[in-house]
Amino acid sequence: MRFASCEAAGRRFAALVEDGRAVPLRGVEELGAATPSELLAAPPLDEAGALPLDRVRLRPLVPSPRRIVCVGHNYGSHVAEVGREVPSYPVLFTKFHDALIGPYDPIVAPPESRKVDYEAELAVVVGRAGRRIDPAAALAHVAGYAVANDVTMRDFQFRTHQWLQGKSWSGSTPLGPWLVTPEEVGDPGRLEISLERNGERLQQGDTSAMIFDVPTLLARISEFTELEAGDVILTGTPAGVGHKREPQVFLEPDDRVAVEISGVGRIENEVVAEAVAGG
Ligand code: MG
Repeated sequence: MRFASCEAAGRRFAALVEDGRAVPLRGVEELGAATPSELLAAPPLDEAGALPLDRVRLRPLVPSPRRIVCVGHNYGSHVAEVGREVPSYPVLFTKFHDALIGPYDPIVAPPESRKVDYEAELAVVVGRAGRRIDPAAALAHVAGYAVANDVTMRDFQFRTHQWLQGKSWSGSTPLGPWLVTPEEVGDPGRLEISLERNGERLQQGDTSAMIFDVPTLLARISEFTELEAGDVILTGTPAGVGHKREPQVFLEPDDRVAVEISGVGRIENEVVAEAVAGG
């Protein structure tokens, strides 16, 4: 099954996406803490409220997660291109929820950054809470999978040893288009992932190349914090990021950037310059 966070005629609702329609979940405004796996397994459908998918705007998949935990340096090919050692413990950082945008919303390039970069990533949405999750049982905690672009202001990421400001710029990170439930995705370690900018393929990878696979990430993160329904984990990006290309590539206004993951979906976003009052 596929689920999305939708908006139509000023109304927000979580929906089952089926046969080109968005079927609202009765009384549920958006995917997140209110939509654990248990609820998604038997969704309270409002069939009479169904709308054609092309008449709804897809919001950030999980608009207000309690946690967004991101993983850096999680593909060997990317570790090699950035010249780091292969990590023995996952490189973790966070984003604020206002960094998230919908799967087709514009990526806002801020006037402060000259190095807006892209990172194709598999997103995992937690469906069942857990602390110190056993890797062998970890996938039972997953509500589903989605596609993300961990857009990064490189010049701000590397201002200090902390990546926060480069990784959590407001309105930078598309997440969607929908949550695809685990029985439909199968093994999250066997998915093809790619990114195109203006039709040119710049990243191509396979989730089997992750250094820390999805069960290991759930185990390591839940060791120090409880994972809860609606929490989002971005699992890292393969090689091909813009700032390590020769010549370098950065996103500019009017660019279109798309990320696709086999069996999960495709997101596509136009880059727009942020209009700042007073210049
Ligand atoms: Mg990333």
